[in-house]
Amino acid sequence: IPQPTYGAQSEGTFDTANPPHIRKYLRTYGLTPPRAETYETQKARCLAQLALKQTPIEKYLYLSTIRKNNVHLFYRLVTDHIREFTPLIYTPVVGEACQRWSEIYQQPEGMYLSYEDKGNLAAVIANWPQPNVEITVITDGSRILGLGDLGINGMGIPIGKLSLYTACAGIRPEATLPLTLDLGTSNKAFREDPLYMGSRRDKVSPEEEQEFLDELMAALTERWPGIVIQFEDFKNPFPALQRYRHTYTSFNDDIQGTGAVILGGVMNAVKRSGVHPRDQRAVFLGAGSAGVGVAKQIVDYFVREGLTEDEAKACFYLVDSRGLVTADRGDRLADHKIYFARKDNNSQQWKTLEEVIDHVKPTMLIGLSTIGGVFTPEILKKMATFNEQPIIFPLSNPSSQSECDLETAIIHTDGRALFASGSPFPPVTYTNTAGETKIYYGGQGNNMYVFPGIGLGTILSKAVEVTDSMIYASGEALTKCMLPDEIEKGFLYPDITRIREVSVVVAREVIRAAQEAQVDRETAIRDLSDNDLDAWIRVRMYNAHAEVASLEREVGALLSSIGR
Ligand code: NAP
Ligand code: MN
Repeated sequence: IPQPTYGAQSEGTFDTANPPHIRKYLRTYGLTPPRAETYETQKARCLAQLALKQTPIEKYLYLSTIRKNNVHLFYRLVTDHIREFTPLIYTPVVGEACQRWSEIYQQPEGMYLSYEDKGNLAAVIANWPQPNVEITVITDGSRILGLGDLGINGMGIPIGKLSLYTACAGIRPEATLPLTLDLGTSNKAFREDPLYMGSRRDKVSPEEEQEFLDELMAALTERWPGIVIQFEDFKNPFPALQRYRHTYTSFNDDIQGTGAVILGGVMNAVKRSGVHPRDQRAVFLGAGSAGVGVAKQIVDYFVREGLTEDEAKACFYLVDSRGLVTADRGDRLADHKIYFARKDNNSQQWKTLEEVIDHVKPTMLIGLSTIGGVFTPEILKKMATFNEQPIIFPLSNPSSQSECDLETAIIHTDGRALFASGSPFPPVTYTNTAGETKIYYGGQGNNMYVFPGIGLGTILSKAVEVTDSMIYASGEALTKCMLPDEIEKGFLYPDITRIREVSVVVAREVIRAAQEAQVDRETAIRDLSDNDLDAWIRVRMYNAHAEVASLEREVGALLSSIGR
C-alpha cells in the first residue's frame, strides 16, 4: 500500500477518532490510546480540560496545543462553537498572547523570516514542510491590533487569522502558512527583554523593508505559484498594497477587508434608512488605514448607485486628531488623507467632532479613531434630531475603545440608531418614548465576515490578482445573505454562527467578480449557475467533521485498487 505523505504539521495523524485500520495505514497504530473515539467524547474531554484553565492565556495555549497535535479535533470544536472560540483563538485574547509571546512560546506554528536572511529567502522558505500552501498571512509585527510594535511577538496574528480562514471558509489547515518578518522592532522594552526571541535591532528603513518584501513576494510565488498573500498589521500598510496589488495575488485585510465588511453593514443600513446615497453625509472620526479604506469603499458604492466620483467623495468628512481634514489646514497631510481632504471650507477649520457635526449635520457617523466614548450622549442626540434613523458605527476595538456602546446609542437616539460596532455588545432592551419595548441587536462589523471568503474565492478561481471589484463584491455579498428573520430583528450583519454559509456566498461573489475582471484562471466554473457554483464551492471546503470518513474512503479505494 502506498504510504501517505504528511508534513510536520499533523493532518489528523494522531486523531483519536481514527479507527484501527486507518491508524495502521497511517502507521500510527499503537501511538495513541487504543480506543477510537466519537467526536462527542473528544469534545467532552476538551471542554473539561478547557474549564480547568484559569486564565484566557492558559485557554489560548491549550487550544494551540490541540491545533498542533490533533488539528481536525481543533477545527471540529471551533466550527461548532465559533462564537465561543473566536475570542480565545483570535481577538481579544490573541492580543495578550502577542504581548507575552516570548514568555508563553511553546511550539513552532509558522515561519519566521529575518532581515539577516535577505538574499536567501527562497532557501529558507524551502524549509516549510507542507508542499501545497495556498494562502499566507504576513505581518512584521509593527502594529499589532491597537497594541503597537510587538516585533516577532506578532506571530499570534497570522496564526489566529489563518485558523479563521480554515474554520470559517474551509481552507485546508495544511494549505495555510503563518509568516512573521523579523525586520527589527522599535519596541525598546522587547529589545531589552532577555526572553524576546527576535533580533535586537531597530526597525529597518522603509527602503530596506521594500527590498526585503520584493524578494519575499517573488520567493513565495516561486515555490507556490498563485499563493494568496494577505498583509496584516503593518505600521504603514499602504506602500506594499500599492506595489504588489497588480503583480501578485495579494490584499491587505486592515485596509481592504475592513473596507469591505463595513461596506456590507453600511449598505444594509443605508437601505434601511431609506435615504438615498445622494443625500448621505458621512462624518468619519479617524482617518487612518481603516478610516480611509472604509470611506473609499463606500465611495465605490455611491458611484455604483449613480453618483459621480466627485459627488460621492463630497459626501465624506474625515476628522483626525487635528480636526476636519482640509487641504489648507496648514500641516503636511499624510498621502492617504489627501484624497478626502475638503476644499470647500473657505479657509475655515473645524477642530472638534462637535463643531464638525454641527457644520455637516451628518446622516452617518463612523468611528475608527481608537478613542473610547467620544460619541457622547450630546452627539448622539444631535444625530437623532438630524435623522429619522441615524447610522452610528463606532468601530474601534476593543470595546473599551469603542466610540460608544450599543446601550448609549439606543437610549440617546430613542431606539432609532442603525448601529454596528467593531467589538460585540450584548442586546439591549429599551422602551422608547412612544412606549414600545423592543430588544435591540447591534451588528458587529467583524472582518471575519469577509476575509475567509475573499481568500477562498481567490484560491478557487485561481485569480492572478485581487481586484478592487473582488473586494467590493465580498462586502456586497453580505447584503445578499441576510435571512428574513435577521432583517426582521434589525440585524445589519448575518448571525455569526452561519459564517460558513456566509463564506460560501462571499466566495461565490468574489469568484464572479474575478471572472468579470478576467483575472480568473479556473475556466471550468465560468458557466456554472449560482446554485451550482455554491455546490462546487461547498465540496471543496475543508470540513473537519468529515476528515475521518474521507480518509476511510481513500484507504478503501486504495485497498480495492490492489485487490484487497
Ligand atoms: P490608525 O491608522 O492609527 O488611525 C487612527 C486614526 O484616528 C488616525 O487618523 C488618528 O489621527 C485618529 N485619531 C486618533 N486620536 C484621535 C482623536 N482624539 N480625535 C480624532 N481622531 C483621532 O488606526 P486604524 O488601523 O485606522 O484603526 C483605527 C481603529 O479601527 C482601531 O481601534 C481598530 O481596532 C479599528 N478597526 C476596526 C475594524 C473593524 O471593526 N472591522 C477593522 C479595522 C480597524 P491622526 O491621523 O491625526 O493620527
Ligand atoms: Mn489587523
